[in-house]
Amino acid sequence: MKKNEDTRILIIEDERHIAEGLKLNLGFQGYVVRIALDGIAGLQEWKSWQPDLIVLDLMLPGIDGVSVLRNIRLEDERIPILVLSAKTAPDDKVQCFSFGVDDYLQKPFNLDEFLLRIERLLKRVSWNRSSDGVEEGEPAFGGFYDFGKNRIDFTLSVAYCNDEKINLTEQEIKLIKLFIANRGKPLSRKKLLEIGWGYTGKTETRTVDNFIVRFRKYFEENPKKPKFFKSLRSVGYIFNHEDESE
Ligand code: CA
Repeated sequence: MKKNEDTRILIIEDERHIAEGLKLNLGFQGYVVRIALDGIAGLQEWKSWQPDLIVLDLMLPGIDGVSVLRNIRLEDERIPILVLSAKTAPDDKVQCFSFGVDDYLQKPFNLDEFLLRIERLLKRVSWNRSSDGVEEGEPAFGGFYDFGKNRIDFTLSVAYCNDEKINLTEQEIKLIKLFIANRGKPLSRKKLLEIGWGYTGKTETRTVDNFIVRFRKYFEENPKKPKFFKSLRSVGYIFNHEDESE
């Protein structure tokens, strides 16, 4: 197991006094801790600092905790995430677990319990790594995904469309995963930006449209009459394939 001194914990929490309190106490245990005060800063730290565990508050300014969580899970299935929530809606908890949260604590919480849960989460990661250095579990998006005449190979980041091989960018892979995970459900441009890019507010929704144009060129037989990546007027987009009988 990694020593605490080599373990990085990122706290994404906008209430500074809570964040500082947690940092202090995790610091006493020897962990290396950083704080991000909003979702966007959190995603940036996650990318650049590569923490071993994330403590995530749900109610954040800008993009909310659930969008942050979903964004991270599109790229990393394994990093332990402990959610802190002030909300009481039971739905929240279920939603968080369905999007891949490992543990959940409701505010206000007991500090000792928090520290024990962190320790437990980190232990579990090291157990999973221990046997022959091979990690357990299949990544949810490992392997292939087929729709129509297209095949996406997530391991190689490649798509085969009508005998053509297309190398997909990291961002394209991320968006495709997001669409597949939400098959048959409308996704607004705003949600696509929040989850897929970690953007918020008035950023260019055209960014999304440009990707859709590209996807249609890759995957649709007739990009002008899309079967898979459809527009929903004044909403956004929806990815469909099963109800198109083949
Ligand atoms: Ca908050």
